Amino acid sequence: QTFENFKFNKQILNAITEAGYEQPTEIQEKAITPILAGQDVMGIAQTGTGKTAAFVLPILMKLKYAQGIDARALILTPTRELAMQIEENIRLFSTYLDLRSVVLYGGLGPKTQIETLEKGVDIIVATPGRFLDLYLEGHIVVKSLKFLVLDEADKMMDMGFISKIHRVLEIVPRKRQNLLFSATMSELVRKIAGDFLAFPTVIEV
Ligand code: AMP
Repeated sequence: QTFENFKFNKQILNAITEAGYEQPTEIQEKAITPILAGQDVMGIAQTGTGKTAAFVLPILMKLKYAQGIDARALILTPTRELAMQIEENIRLFSTYLDLRSVVLYGGLGPKTQIETLEKGVDIIVATPGRFLDLYLEGHIVVKSLKFLVLDEADKMMDMGFISKIHRVLEIVPRKRQNLLFSATMSELVRKIAGDFLAFPTVIEV
């Protein structure tokens, strides 16, 4: 299997080559095709397996170019470090695309984050608390969201984010594609997956 087998455009393939990725990892091999096909996906994969690119690459491919002011993809992850890593991946793979992303996390003032949101973004990477704070203050419009990703779902449950996740599920549009990644499959993860995913393709690596 090679990255050329997926229906990525030339811009994305060039960025993949420049990143030094020669062939897809197992999670990428199994997840990219169903995500490109529009399916909900639950991926059970540890950090280090290449799971970030497994969801970032097909989302970039489906968004293609900047559009409007309101975000079309929301990626929630438990910590600031993970949020920053995911956004770095997005920047890396969208070098030759025209897409705008923002990373939202707590622990510092929201001024710059709000300014970026106001200019218009396609992809938001956020920790749940800061996302909801900025949403409740009216800085984020969710009506255009087409993709919702819960990354490291088990860790989000461990950190007590379940009620925040439920709050997010209440405010996002019904019609959307959902992706959930988790290193382990606990009862709480199973529950949130049941509430969140519609007829998911389940992938375990
Ligand atoms: P992740 O599991 O997403 O945190 O990725 C772990 C590491 O593997 C990161 O440093 C990625 O840049 C790298 N990586 C992901 N996919 C590939 C690939 N197909 N080929 C080489 N390195 C990769």
